[in-house]
Amino acid sequence: MSKEGHAAVKISQFSESVIREMSRMAAKYKAVNLAQGLPDFPAPAELKEAACQAIAADINQYSITWGDRLFRQAIAEKASDYLGMKIDPETDITVTCGASEAMMSTIMAILDPGDEVIIFEPFYENYGPACILSGAIPRHVSLNPPDWSFDEKELAGAFNNRTAAIIINTPNNPTGKVFSRQELEVIAGYCQKFGVLAVTDEIYEHILFDGASHVATGSLPGMEQLTVTVNSLSKTYSVTGWRVGYAIACAELQEAIRKVHDFLTIAAPAPLQRAGIVAMQMPTAYYRELASKYAERRKALMDTLDQAGIKYYKPQGAYYIFADISNLGFANDLEFTEHLVKEVGVAVVPGSSFYRAGGAGSAHVRFCFARRPETLQAAHTRLIKLTNNRSCP
Ligand code: GLN
Repeated sequence: MSKEGHAAVKISQFSESVIREMSRMAAKYKAVNLAQGLPDFPAPAELKEAACQAIAADINQYSITWGDRLFRQAIAEKASDYLGMKIDPETDITVTCGASEAMMSTIMAILDPGDEVIIFEPFYENYGPACILSGAIPRHVSLNPPDWSFDEKELAGAFNNRTAAIIINTPNNPTGKVFSRQELEVIAGYCQKFGVLAVTDEIYEHILFDGASHVATGSLPGMEQLTVTVNSLSKTYSVTGWRVGYAIACAELQEAIRKVHDFLTIAAPAPLQRAGIVAMQMPTAYYRELASKYAERRKALMDTLDQAGIKYYKPQGAYYIFADISNLGFANDLEFTEHLVKEVGVAVVPGSSFYRAGGAGSAHVRFCFARRPETLQAAHTRLIKLTNNRSCP
């Protein structure tokens, strides 16, 4: 492949975020935005208060590059407790500008050009570009409906002596799958056999339904030195715009991650890291309430989809519903998404953003239910007209 204009060749290997483009389309057509994964309701008052106080107290300069010491201590306490991992706040945590930067810094720190990375498909759109920017080669393994599990033979076939890492995302975006302990143990077994790192995006760790429980790959025996756990304040505390995330890994991996992070962004926002201490010290009731509120929103959106005649996979976690639109009479996900945003007035994400070109993405779209009841109600009013609109053009 050769260079076109001044952009590097690798830039042509991925496209702009479709998720964020859908938010722009929603604004343009005044559609109800069920596309981008961000809450449209306020963040907890105590967090906002803590952020204002930190700015007033002049926590306004760079923090230590790998994170404010007190914040790292708070993360270590909370995460050790919830995930069942031993975490040293001095050596095992790097605070980053969101989980996206934690992922990018990790990938750049551990991959060389030509290394292979296993990515489950459907995938969250950041993973591919992060690998391409590092010169690494993505290898995909399918998650298969209806339970979005993988075929062990296919997984085994993807591991070889060029494999450097596998990316796991549980609870999963976009499918809502929560990987079971048994599935993670299978993956961990191959990681140990081939000396492969597991990079695990656990940003939806507290958004779980129907008794599902979150298992951290880093807590599995033998995975302590082989796992980078990526997380953030964004989803659990409804502050996606704060850009405060973190990577948990052993000291040796952190040395590499911290170097990349330092030259990419220096440090995450200092006052917001201080506010993050309050986040990490929220009582257990906060997390219970978070999950139960999301369960109500999930139910509201499922009821709407039922009434609109849209088939979907009931999510066990995260705040998305992945729907199958193949029976609705549209040529593909893009045609459906365009019709929905322009004619029905609801923005969603086309499934093709979560699959390789030509894959099963054309039969799917993703709805986000991290929305106030009135937003979900507005979407309901519009979506239930979908079938009527189609049958009476
Ligand atoms: N993680 C969120 C989503 O999947 C937001 C991502 C983004 O802005 N691209 O929608």
